[in-house]
Amino acid sequence: RADLALYAAKNKGRDNLAIFEHSLDQQARERRSLEADLGEALALDQLRLHFQPIIELETGQATGYEALLRWYHPERGVLGPGEFLSIAEETGLIMPIGDWVIRTALAETVDWAGDFRVAINLSTTQVADPRIVATLSQALRETDFPAHRVELEITEHVLMDQSDANRDTLLKMREMGLRIALDDFGTGFSSLAYLRRFPFDRIKIDRTFVRDLTSDIGSQAIVSTITRLAEAMDMETTAEGVEDRRQLDLLRKLGVKEAQGFLISKPLLAEKISATTIKAEEVAEAPVEKAVIDY
Ligand code: C2E
Ligand code: MG
Ligand code: MG
Ligand code: MG
Repeated sequence: RADLALYAAKNKGRDNLAIFEHSLDQQARERRSLEADLGEALALDQLRLHFQPIIELETGQATGYEALLRWYHPERGVLGPGEFLSIAEETGLIMPIGDWVIRTALAETVDWAGDFRVAINLSTTQVADPRIVATLSQALRETDFPAHRVELEITEHVLMDQSDANRDTLLKMREMGLRIALDDFGTGFSSLAYLRRFPFDRIKIDRTFVRDLTSDIGSQAIVSTITRLAEAMDMETTAEGVEDRRQLDLLRKLGVKEAQGFLISKPLLAEKISATTIKAEEVAEAPVEKAVIDY
């Protein structure tokens, strides 16, 4: 009997291993097929930008729109950057795709009314390629978009490189009149150190702090501290990932200048954007609720 049980267990183990190997195989195949598809996505016009409004907390007015890349895959539906950006990085496709993002973000918004910024995310690979500067200046020229209304969002990874090449590229962008924001602030190893390495125009407070804001005193203290630090260093602040009213009210109370998140609007195709500013105004008109903690 014992032998039989052992035999059964061994067999089961082998089955599980087979299933595991099969799923790894499946994953590798999936990835290769996505890779091949991504190579054609630009030519087949499957990429789109969604824009997420950024509002000023004082007035509720939209002061900016962040361009967020989407892949309208014919079989898999709408894919977010988390599902294909790493493939784009590894295959080198990030450069042509990134260039497309820059040109399209400017072209699709240049005719919108108002004095807003357009925010464009740049990955480390893009900044590390010196051609990015020419791409940007050409896109500005072709669309007639004022450089001071374009904000490039980078993460601190861009500055981790010990050589100063990336920093020099950022400085060149700055000289062109472009604005530079530090995205996902507070999530890295030594976020504070990077504030000294480059004179950012804006700090984007990572959404993990916003998420815990109403339940965690620590997150409130961090947001409050980041806000004061930014003010002292003459940088603007935007909070990411605002999903409910209490977070919004607390952020305003803590002195954060701007916010974006699903509460205000999800990222939307350019043609659907106009409807969201109305909601943004409603957000500002509502009374400020009492915050959990008084600073
Ligand atoms: P990110 O720049 O920090 O962008 C904010 C992310 O938070 C977006 O995810 C946005 O859809 C999401 N978000 C906005 N409001 C809320 C909210 O209230 N709650 C929650 N849970 N999430 C919210 P998305 O679009 O999936 O983009 C992920 C990341 O991919 C971006 O993070 C950015 O780093 C990168 N990315 C997006 N578009 C581009 C692009 O065109 N080029 C490059 N290089 N990177 C991009
Ligand atoms: Mg961003
Ligand atoms: Mg972010
Ligand atoms: Mg992020």
